[in-house]
This record gives sequence, structure tokens and C-alpha cells, in this order.
Amino acid sequence: GGHLRSDDPELASLIDEETKRQSTTLQLIASENFTSLAVMEATASVLTNKYSEGYPGKRYYGGNQIIDKVETLAIERLKRLFNAPWANVQPHSGANANAAVYFALLKPQDTVLAMRLDQGGHLTHGSPVNFSGQLYNFVGYGVTDKGDGGETINFDNMYELALKHRPKLIVAGATAYPRVITVDRVREIADEVGAMVMFDAAHVAGLIAAGVYPNPLYTSSGGKGADVVTFTTHKTLRGPRGGAIVGHEEHGSVIDRALFPGFQGGPLENTIAAKAVAFLEALQPEFRLYQEQVVRNARAFADALERQGFRLVSGGTDTHLLLVDLQSFDPELSGKVAQEALDRAGITCNRNQIPGDPRSPFVTSGLRFGTAAMTTTGMEEEQMRQVAEFIATALRKREDESEVTRVRAEVEALCLKFPPPFLKK
Ligand code: PLP
Repeated sequence: GGHLRSDDPELASLIDEETKRQSTTLQLIASENFTSLAVMEATASVLTNKYSEGYPGKRYYGGNQIIDKVETLAIERLKRLFNAPWANVQPHSGANANAAVYFALLKPQDTVLAMRLDQGGHLTHGSPVNFSGQLYNFVGYGVTDKGDGGETINFDNMYELALKHRPKLIVAGATAYPRVITVDRVREIADEVGAMVMFDAAHVAGLIAAGVYPNPLYTSSGGKGADVVTFTTHKTLRGPRGGAIVGHEEHGSVIDRALFPGFQGGPLENTIAAKAVAFLEALQPEFRLYQEQVVRNARAFADALERQGFRLVSGGTDTHLLLVDLQSFDPELSGKVAQEALDRAGITCNRNQIPGDPRSPFVTSGLRFGTAAMTTTGMEEEQMRQVAEFIATALRKREDESEVTRVRAEVEALCLKFPPPFLKK
């Protein structure tokens, strides 16, 4: 015994099936990516066996001398990557990173200003079904109306709400927003009302690390931007599933204590090691080239989708992410039906509400796409145009099973030409 295939063939074969799915269908979910084999190796290492409650040099159990070096390496690399005075690599996820910041900086019922969920905010930005909406008094700002330069963050709305509600914290950053959010105006508004700023960079952390998106820790003139920046390590940053926090020194120790012992137990040191590997990868010059290609691919994809009759929310993208309004393509077509049709064609994405969506969050009138995973496999602009065509055909011919099957075969042929890193020799 000792190996998955012999000890647990049932589970091993499920992993085989998922390996096949990931390598023969298109991964267009904006929050996903393919890690390197090195990241997967660290994730599956002996470090999973160790308890290390506490922080480097301050552990509650023995035997942590090597673990301390691992976690310190991750912290040091992350500080370099974000030019950050302080970093914490222990959050198990992006949601936990946000929870720790709220727990550190707020008291229950405190007022927080964040992006409305139906305009692109995340569940942890005050959804009534999430702890954040139940413990704190969230007020939501939105995006501007459609039109030239429209559907971008409405800073006037943020300012008005800040004056009216005097929040203790302003949250910037989003889960379904294709444009760059500069922190300058947020900092100004926060300073005027005496609020702190948290930037949730879950989606764009990789772009920031590569310098293709402004670092929200600093304003464009180099002053203090966000007090803290939270993010996930598994999206554009291309590391293992997990979270992290960087910030200016002043809130560091209170957030460290809020995360442990306040909110989490023992850290996942195998995951922290994998984060360290991903941070090292992100410090290399090639990572910048990769992220530049991610954005070029997103722009080419947006243009190609527009030519197929889709309207892009905000008219395009500056990032890895695209939000497509299906109403212009086919007013009858909901996000739910579109997502299911694309699934049958081997194209994996998720439905998403668009600003002012007449349909419910479960049905929606939009689709969200991202180019991070496709770009990791080596796809470029030419493939983006092909994928846009697959999407348009699969949706137009969604009632015709033979057409959908034909698209699926073409999708598979494309995927076989651009295998994920785990299949590369
Ligand atoms: N914040 C934002 C903006 C996100 O998009 C996400 C993930 O979707 C999260 C937080 C939560 O991350 P996780 O799923 O790792 O808890």
C-alpha cells in the first residue's frame, strides 16, 4: 500500500476524471488558474503533517524550526512582491483573510462601505447571507450608469455615502469588475471621514505582483493607499488555494492576533510552502510577461466577443476579467441557460449578474470570463478569437445537439494543443 491508486482506487479514478476534464475543456472561470507542478508538489509535501499554531519564533508546539524557515521565506517573498512593510500568509482562504481584517479593525455593528454585490462586490463585502452582513452594518456603493466610461466605480456615490454614514472602514475591490480600481480617490474619501481602507485584491493580486495593475498599498504619488490589502493566492497569482494579507506596519500585529488565535487554528504549512513557491515564481521577469499576455488576451477576447454581438459591461476590460451582457446577443437568453449550454460544449464559465440586472442572482443576464488559466496554457490572441467564435456558435445553436457536439470536439482539439502545466513533460 501507500499509494492512492492502490489504496483508494475509487478516489484515484475521480482525480483521473477531473484531470481529464481540466485538460480537455476550456477553463474560463475568472477566479481559476493552473499552478505549476512545483506548487502542486509543495502542496502535497510532508509539511501537511505538522502543527504550528502561532507565528515564526512564537509557536505553541515543538519541532517548528524548519517550519519557521518555510513560513518566514513565504512572508519575506510576499513583502518583496507587494513592496509591503508587513505580511501574513496564514489565511486559509480569501474569505478568512477578509474576516480576520474585519475582526481586527471593527466591532460588531460598525459601519463599513463596500461595493454592492449586484454591482460586482463579493459575499464577504456585506451579503446578508454572509457573516459580514450579519455582524457589521454594510452600506453599498455602486457603478455609474451605462454609456461612455460608464459602469465604472461611482466615486461620487462612495463620497456621498461616506459623508452620510461615516464608515469605520471602506472596502474597495471586487469579484466581477473588469476595470482597474485606483486607490487614490478611496484614500481621499476615507481620510475625509476618518475611515480605514481595505482593498480586496483577490482577483487582481497576480496583476499587481507583476506591475500591470497599480499596487493598492500606495497612491499614484507614492503615499499611503489602502491600510491593508487582502487577496487569494489561487486566482491570477497562480498559487495554491488560499489567502494572504499585506499592509502597512500599524495594523500588522492586531491583524496577526485576529487571525490567530482569534479566528483560525493551526496554519496549513504545506499550503504556505506552496504560496512561497508561487511568490518566487511571481518575482521572476517571465511572470510579468505572462500577466501582460493575460491582459492582452482579455482585450482580444473582449473585441472578438463584441464582434459576435455581445455587449461588454463597461465596454471592455483592463484586467483578466470580462463581464458579458447577454441581452444584446439574445434577450431571451439568461446567464443560467447560457452557462449550461456552454458546459455542454466543453466551455466552463459562470453566470453573473450585470449592473441593473433584471434577473435574479440565480438566473442572471450575464456571463463572467477570465483569461488567466487559458494564458497559462500558452494561448494567445488568435486562440481568444477562436474561443469567442465557439461561444457564439454554442449559444446560437444551443437547441441543436449536433452543433453543440461539433463545438465540443473543436474545443477538445484546441485544449489538446495547449495542455495545462501538469501534463507538460
Ligand atoms: N474576495 C473576492 C473579491 C473574491 O473574488 C473572492 C473569491 O471568489 C474572495 C474574496 C474569497 O476567496 P475564497 O473563495 O478563497 O474564500
